[in-house]
Amino acid sequence: MSDAFTERLRLIRFRRKREHSRFRDELRIIPKWLVVMCLLLYILALIIGFSVNHYGFETNGPVFPGDESLRHDPELSYFELGGVITLGAVALSILFFSFGYVYRDAKRRGMNPGLWTLLVLLLSGGYFFIGFIIYLLVREPLPFTCPQCSASVNARFNFCPNCKCNLHPACPQCQREVSDTDKFCPYCATELAHPKPAPAA
Ligand SMILES: [Zn+2]
Ligand SMILES: [Zn+2]
Repeated sequence: MSDAFTERLRLIRFRRKREHSRFRDELRIIPKWLVVMCLLLYILALIIGFSVNHYGFETNGPVFPGDESLRHDPELSYFELGGVITLGAVALSILFFSFGYVYRDAKRRGMNPGLWTLLVLLLSGGYFFIGFIIYLLVREPLPFTCPQCSASVNARFNFCPNCKCNLHPACPQCQREVSDTDKFCPYCATELAHPKPAPAA
């Protein structure tokens, strides 16, 4: 277990270091059709809810919120009904958006999108957002660009397949991983050598 676990922790650290995603950009991943669908369902729920309530007032049947308290105040009844439907719609939409996000995000990270969406969906049946949170913790890092040749490389790669650049340089003294921009090892202060571009003559 230890090897796979260490590799997993290393990828999580790597992702935290490299990815500075902004919330606004992340929101764009949610498919547009899903947003439109949620909006249409919300409008549909309002129409149905208000129609049923209207029918209740017309026929002296049950009106929202069920007891007789608001029968003489139709406006307040509609207002409360609208509020309840809106709250439910917002909560459900956020849940649906999290599924849409997981599908698209898993795809661009080279993970199995169907399987992950299904897992998040199943877990949210009992625990709402727990599946989504687990996904955020364990997802793979995004592919990044090689610092030397700018080719797109997988976060699991140790060397760039295009230019052989060492993607996870380690300190020659203490063997711990250092960043490719560090001049000195942050752990033991050893001076680090960098492959510098050839100076202009
Ligand atoms: Zn490269
Ligand atoms: Zn060191």
